[in-house]
Amino acid sequence: MDQRLGPRKKVGLVAHDNKKRDLIDWVTFNRGLLAQHDLVATGTTGALLEEVLGIGIRKLHSGPLGGDQQLGALIADGDIDFLVFFWDPLEPQPHDPDVKALLRIAVVWNIPIACNRASADFMISSPLMSSDYERQMPDYRSYVDRQIGPS
Ligand code: PGA
Repeated sequence: MDQRLGPRKKVGLVAHDNKKRDLIDWVTFNRGLLAQHDLVATGTTGALLEEVLGIGIRKLHSGPLGGDQQLGALIADGDIDFLVFFWDPLEPQPHDPDVKALLRIAVVWNIPIACNRASADFMISSPLMSSDYERQMPDYRSYVDRQIGPS
């Protein structure tokens, strides 16, 4: 079944330490647009963004302490509509498996992901950000039933 999204989207925000400046600049520029949505972020990213935006943000654990996995769980439950994830391509992270898992689960559930400022710019300026959208849900029934034979 597809998921019907209204004009107010649930936006997930994460940035690795070397990318936090980039994300702060991006959210500052897009403050007016972001204020129209519900924001959720990993701990440190969320605290920094809340300070610069002056908008309430739901803060999860810090990424390396489970925040990326919490975001993944929100995605699996249909509680994130758009993920902005500025990950660092130049430095390994202690929680690299979680980073990979978050990127993977976003693809599993057909969630748009912006991993750098240009993609974030393109996506936030899409008319779909402020209108209804029917997000196609992949049909995983055959996967779920794969071990269950005909009775
Ligand atoms: P942080 O986590 O917002 O707590 O720094 C980000 C991450 O590294 O996933």
